[in-house]
Amino acid sequence: MAEFQAAVASLKAATDIAKAAKAVSDFNNVATALAEVNFKLMDAIVAANASVEKQGQQLARIKDLEEELARVKAWEVQKQRYKLTSPQGLSGVVVYSLRQSASDGEPPHWICTSCYESGRRSIMNPQTDTGNWTSYICPQCKANFPTGSRGHWPIEYPPE
Ligand SMILES: [Zn+2]
Repeated sequence: MAEFQAAVASLKAATDIAKAAKAVSDFNNVATALAEVNFKLMDAIVAANASVEKQGQQLARIKDLEEELARVKAWEVQKQRYKLTSPQGLSGVVVYSLRQSASDGEPPHWICTSCYESGRRSIMNPQTDTGNWTSYICPQCKANFPTGSRGHWPIEYPPE
Protein backbone atom coordinates (compact mmCIF):
# COMPACT_ATOMS: atom_id res chain seq x y z
CA MET A 1 0.00 0.00 0.00
CA ALA A 2 2.81 2.32 0.84
CA GLU A 3 4.37 1.59 -2.51
CA PHE A 4 1.10 2.33 -4.20
CA GLN A 5 0.88 5.62 -2.32
CA ALA A 6 4.48 6.38 -3.28
CA ALA A 7 3.69 5.55 -6.85
CA VAL A 8 0.60 7.74 -6.71
CA ALA A 9 2.69 10.48 -5.12
CA SER A 10 5.33 10.08 -7.83
CA LEU A 11 2.68 10.09 -10.48
CA LYS A 12 1.17 13.24 -8.98
CA ALA A 13 4.58 14.86 -8.81
CA ALA A 14 5.20 13.95 -12.42
CA THR A 15 1.78 15.26 -13.36
CA ASP A 16 2.50 18.53 -11.50
CA ILE A 17 5.80 18.81 -13.28
CA ALA A 18 4.09 18.09 -16.54
CA LYS A 19 1.38 20.62 -15.71
CA ALA A 20 4.03 23.16 -14.79
CA ALA A 21 5.93 22.35 -17.96
CA LYS A 22 2.71 22.67 -19.96
CA ALA A 23 2.02 26.03 -18.28
CA VAL A 24 5.50 27.27 -19.20
CA SER A 25 4.99 25.95 -22.70
CA ASP A 26 1.61 27.72 -22.88
CA PHE A 27 3.17 30.87 -21.54
CA ASN A 28 5.83 30.65 -24.22
CA ASN A 29 3.17 30.02 -26.82
CA VAL A 30 1.09 32.89 -25.51
CA ALA A 31 4.16 35.17 -25.46
CA THR A 32 5.00 34.14 -29.02
CA ALA A 33 1.40 34.67 -30.07
CA LEU A 34 1.35 38.07 -28.34
CA ALA A 35 4.55 39.07 -30.09
CA GLU A 36 2.99 38.07 -33.41
CA VAL A 37 -0.15 39.99 -32.54
CA ASN A 38 2.03 43.00 -31.67
CA PHE A 39 3.86 42.76 -34.99
CA LYS A 40 0.56 42.45 -36.82
CA LEU A 41 -0.82 45.42 -34.89
CA MET A 42 2.24 47.48 -35.80
CA ASP A 43 1.82 46.44 -39.44
CA ALA A 44 -1.85 47.40 -39.22
CA ILE A 45 -0.95 50.78 -37.70
CA VAL A 46 1.64 51.41 -40.42
CA ALA A 47 -0.90 50.39 -43.06
CA ALA A 48 -3.56 52.60 -41.45
CA ASN A 49 -1.16 55.55 -41.40
CA ALA A 50 -0.27 54.95 -45.03
CA SER A 51 -3.97 54.74 -45.85
CA VAL A 52 -4.68 58.02 -44.04
CA GLU A 53 -1.79 59.66 -45.90
CA LYS A 54 -3.01 58.28 -49.22
CA GLN A 55 -6.53 59.41 -48.45
CA GLY A 56 -5.19 62.90 -47.71
CA GLN A 57 -3.35 62.91 -51.04
CA GLN A 58 -6.49 61.76 -52.83
CA LEU A 59 -8.56 64.50 -51.17
CA ALA A 60 -5.98 67.10 -52.22
CA ARG A 61 -6.06 65.69 -55.77
CA ILE A 62 -9.86 65.83 -55.82
CA LYS A 63 -9.74 69.46 -54.64
CA ASP A 64 -7.21 70.30 -57.40
CA LEU A 65 -9.38 68.60 -60.02
CA GLU A 66 -12.51 70.39 -58.78
CA GLU A 67 -10.70 73.71 -59.05
CA GLU A 68 -9.46 72.81 -62.53
CA LEU A 69 -12.97 71.76 -63.56
CA ALA A 70 -14.41 75.05 -62.25
CA ARG A 71 -11.71 76.96 -64.15
CA VAL A 72 -12.42 75.03 -67.38
CA LYS A 73 -16.18 75.59 -67.01
CA ALA A 74 -15.65 79.31 -66.40
CA TRP A 75 -13.39 79.49 -69.45
CA GLU A 76 -16.01 77.70 -71.60
CA VAL A 77 -18.45 80.50 -70.71
CA GLN A 78 -15.84 83.23 -71.09
CA LYS A 79 -14.55 82.10 -74.48
CA GLN A 80 -18.03 82.32 -76.01
CA ARG A 81 -17.85 86.09 -75.51
CA TYR A 82 -15.18 86.37 -78.20
CA LYS A 83 -15.13 85.99 -81.95
CA LEU A 84 -12.12 85.17 -84.10
CA THR A 85 -11.63 88.15 -86.39
CA SER A 86 -9.17 89.69 -88.79
CA PRO A 87 -9.50 93.40 -88.02
CA GLN A 88 -9.88 95.61 -91.05
CA GLY A 89 -6.60 97.25 -91.98
CA LEU A 90 -4.47 94.64 -90.25
CA SER A 91 -3.68 92.20 -93.01
CA GLY A 92 -2.77 88.76 -91.74
CA VAL A 93 -3.49 89.60 -88.12
CA VAL A 94 -6.07 87.44 -86.39
CA VAL A 95 -7.33 88.16 -82.89
CA TYR A 96 -10.26 87.27 -80.71
CA SER A 97 -12.55 90.31 -80.43
CA LEU A 98 -15.11 90.89 -77.70
CA ARG A 99 -18.64 90.53 -79.07
CA GLN A 100 -20.77 93.59 -78.32
CA SER A 101 -23.72 91.37 -77.41
CA ALA A 102 -21.61 89.72 -74.70
CA SER A 103 -19.66 92.76 -73.59
CA ASP A 104 -21.42 93.24 -70.23
CA GLY A 105 -20.30 96.85 -70.29
CA GLU A 106 -16.67 96.08 -71.14
CA PRO A 107 -15.12 98.28 -73.86
CA PRO A 108 -14.10 96.69 -77.15
CA HIS A 109 -10.85 94.82 -76.84
CA TRP A 110 -8.84 91.97 -78.27
CA ILE A 111 -7.49 88.93 -76.55
CA CYS A 112 -4.48 86.91 -77.59
CA THR A 113 -5.17 83.93 -79.87
CA SER A 114 -2.29 81.90 -78.46
CA CYS A 115 -3.43 82.40 -74.88
CA TYR A 116 -7.02 81.74 -75.92
CA GLU A 117 -5.94 78.34 -77.26
CA SER A 118 -4.21 77.72 -73.92
CA GLY A 119 -7.49 78.34 -72.12
CA ARG A 120 -6.93 81.79 -70.70
CA ARG A 121 -8.02 85.32 -71.45
CA SER A 122 -5.21 87.78 -71.98
CA ILE A 123 -6.29 91.27 -73.04
CA MET A 124 -3.87 92.81 -75.51
CA ASN A 125 -2.52 96.25 -74.72
CA PRO A 126 -1.43 98.96 -77.16
CA GLN A 127 2.18 99.96 -77.17
CA THR A 128 3.96 102.50 -79.33
CA ASP A 129 7.61 102.38 -80.23
CA THR A 130 9.95 105.34 -80.54
CA GLY A 131 8.64 105.98 -84.05
CA ASN A 132 5.08 106.09 -82.66
CA TRP A 133 4.21 102.83 -84.46
CA THR A 134 1.49 101.04 -82.57
CA SER A 135 1.47 97.35 -81.74
CA TYR A 136 -0.77 95.29 -79.52
CA ILE A 137 1.13 93.17 -77.04
CA CYS A 138 -0.05 90.17 -75.07
CA PRO A 139 1.01 90.70 -71.46
CA GLN A 140 1.11 86.93 -70.87
CA CYS A 141 3.01 85.43 -73.80
CA LYS A 142 4.38 88.71 -75.20
CA ALA A 143 2.87 88.05 -78.66
CA ASN A 144 3.22 91.20 -80.74
CA PHE A 145 0.56 92.34 -83.22
CA PRO A 146 1.83 95.37 -85.16
CA THR A 147 -0.94 97.58 -86.52
CA GLY A 148 1.24 99.10 -89.22
CA SER A 149 -0.11 102.46 -88.09
CA ARG A 150 1.08 105.29 -85.99
CA GLY A 151 -0.73 106.63 -82.98
CA HIS A 152 -3.98 105.38 -81.57
CA TRP A 153 -5.49 102.35 -83.27
CA PRO A 154 -9.21 102.15 -82.50
CA ILE A 155 -10.62 98.76 -81.58
CA GLU A 156 -14.25 98.17 -82.41
CA TYR A 157 -16.69 95.40 -81.67
CA PRO A 158 -16.74 92.87 -84.54
CA PRO A 159 -19.83 92.44 -86.70
CA GLU A 160 -22.14 89.91 -84.99
ZN1 LIG B 1 -0.77 85.55 -75.25
